Amino acid sequence: MAVTDVIGGSGRRGSGGSWRNWAGNVTACPARTVAPASAEELAAAVRTAAADGLTVKAAGTGHSFTPAAATDGLLIRPERLTGIRRIDRAAGTVTVAAGTPLKVLNRTLSAHGLSLANMGDIMEQTVSGAISTGTHGTGRDSASIAAQITALELVTADGSVLRCSAEENPEVFAGARLGLGALGVVSELTFAVEPEFLLTAREEPMSFDEVTGRFDELAAENEHFEFYWFPHTGNCNTKRNNRSQGPAAPPGRVSGWIEDELLSNGVFQVACAMGRAVPAAIPGIAKISSRALSARTYTDIPYKVFTSPRRVRFVEMEYALPRAAAIEALGELKALVERSDFKVSFPVEVRTAPADDIALSTASGRETVYIAVHMYRGTPFQAYFGATERIMAAHEGRPHWGKLHTRDAGYLAEVYPRFGEFTALRDRLDPERRFANGYLRQVLGD
Ligand SMILES: Cc1cc2nc3c(=O)[nH]c(=O)nc-3n(C[C@H](O)[C@H](O)[C@H](O)COP(=O)(O)OP(=O)(O)OC[C@H]3O[C@@H](n4cnc5c(N)ncnc54)[C@H](O)[C@@H]3O)c2cc1C
Repeated sequence: MAVTDVIGGSGRRGSGGSWRNWAGNVTACPARTVAPASAEELAAAVRTAAADGLTVKAAGTGHSFTPAAATDGLLIRPERLTGIRRIDRAAGTVTVAAGTPLKVLNRTLSAHGLSLANMGDIMEQTVSGAISTGTHGTGRDSASIAAQITALELVTADGSVLRCSAEENPEVFAGARLGLGALGVVSELTFAVEPEFLLTAREEPMSFDEVTGRFDELAAENEHFEFYWFPHTGNCNTKRNNRSQGPAAPPGRVSGWIEDELLSNGVFQVACAMGRAVPAAIPGIAKISSRALSARTYTDIPYKVFTSPRRVRFVEMEYALPRAAAIEALGELKALVERSDFKVSFPVEVRTAPADDIALSTASGRETVYIAVHMYRGTPFQAYFGATERIMAAHEGRPHWGKLHTRDAGYLAEVYPRFGEFTALRDRLDPERRFANGYLRQVLGD
């Protein structure tokens, strides 16, 4: 086991051994840092921390905007707990070490002619970090990454290694698939996978009125529908991804680079920096940039269609709303931006998910629409996010566990019918709160 007092690799190296997340809005000073390479090393690290009276927190790549992975105790880093462990073609499953980055999982699956059914916008995160906060993409029938797990291995507070699935320790599996790091440290995950398929993506600008008026139809007709609304304008960009027989027709190298790197990252970075320097220019920039979009269609393997690089740093809040409330809430958000002085250079992202059966999933037991607001890093975001949060909370919204919010355990117990089931499991598995941190005290209580 590597024991270090300076942090390298994923997550961020801060000064003096501190830890910093991707967005740079969370820092922490762990007392000690370890990078175990196996469940046995992990269990030994948890036992030693307990003997020394330290709390324990595993971090992924620090892509959460909330202080979910922050600790002043023992920080467990992911970089040596990586790799594909088993591929079972007959069962349609792949087992990976918990610190494996999603990009390694996706590329390895593709090399074996396999794929996950659905995924989020990027693939930098670790598999364990992604599931622990409920990372999701958009889907009519297929749900979050956690919903694609069939088994996991968990190192619990007493240092034992627990295997869980629908058959083995099913009540632990029900919680630990999306466990916020509160139940133990995940050491291994098994995903349901399928033969690799092709997706045809159709991106098309559409007015706000048209996309909100046709939302039910667009979400029902497409396997993966999402759209972005550009604040200060009536313009949206829609994206429809559907399985296709092929042939593959990826974006051309030049046009793909123009869309994904130049416009989405390079030019966007410059526009955001200009807007930060001169906020009054943001509405004008938004009108020009939202009109610069053009329709395009391409066909490629899943991770190349679902994910893309995000190099412009931002902070984000995302709420999961009951499907029936979403368009009304979005209309309220648009009216809020129109009547306020907020200057918002980032589009608002709208995605969907079917109901799932995971206790703390933002889509637990209800068909869901996600509404996400973003602000360029270094821009005041509190007033905009605070006003947005009031709208979302009035519609019984559930905040993404990895994205900024101010909700506490009292509120969350109201909007999650199975909240008590999860906290009872926590009381059983971690009575001494070995895995506690400030964020868990906020969202789950002491
Ligand atoms: C640019 C960007 C794009 C994003 N896109 C999306 C998106 O499309 N959809 C979406 O839903 N979210 C998205 N997110 C949010 C992100 O997916 C989540 O916050 C995710 O949890 C980050 O994973 P991570 O590996 O960085 O974990 P971290 O942020 O480091 O940790 C997250 C949580 O997981 C816990 N954890 C990590 N490893 C373990 C382990 N082995 N055992 C137990 N607990 C563990 C940590 O303690 C912490 O509580 C995005 C974030 C960014 C910055």
